[in-house]
Amino acid sequence: MRLLFMGPPGVGKGTQAKRIEKHYDIVHLSTGDILRSEMKSKSLVGKQAREYIESGHLVPDSVLLKMMAHRLEQEDCGNGFLLDGFPRTLAQANGLDKILLDLKQTLDFAISLTANEDELVNRLVKRGQDSGRSDDTKEIIQHRQKIYWEQTAPLIDFYKNKNLLKEVDGIGEISEITNRILGVLR
Ligand code: AMP
Repeated sequence: MRLLFMGPPGVGKGTQAKRIEKHYDIVHLSTGDILRSEMKSKSLVGKQAREYIESGHLVPDSVLLKMMAHRLEQEDCGNGFLLDGFPRTLAQANGLDKILLDLKQTLDFAISLTANEDELVNRLVKRGQDSGRSDDTKEIIQHRQKIYWEQTAPLIDFYKNKNLLKEVDGIGEISEITNRILGVLR
């Protein structure tokens, strides 16, 4: 199973991705997590990404595409993968198509998790207080929402046109949402 998850920041992509990863025994690739770990290890990618992440901007497409081309060709992705937070721009979506073409693979589904924006901002402010993630402050959260609607939401049509899109209501109990997702993956 090869999947990707889209949805505004705070909609619960990460939480759901971990559950779906287990269900299908596939690799969960969160570009946010990968970039944060690169920052921690002070790698070149980490250094390139830091200022963008901390200000709530998107890291340049070229950095993401190189990083993900390298990651997706690793052996552990052979049984399938779940992309969480990538692609986030049309350039990344086109780049992903090319990466998969080179690997002779295709996507099975693109899941779009939906929710109302006020609910999301409140959830993220709370997550910032609980986890201390440096980009979970109200101002940066609102900026990340804006970027989502401007740059990532167009991908909904991109995947709709490819007949890969499944929209799932992201509000409710965690297990209920997982069941909704599993219900559309067939
Ligand atoms: P996330 O954990 O998915 O909310 O990502 C946190 C931050 O990492 C984002 O606000 C971006 O700065 C950066 N990031 C993660 N994924 C991408 C991507 N696909 N393209 C550009 N920037 C990204």
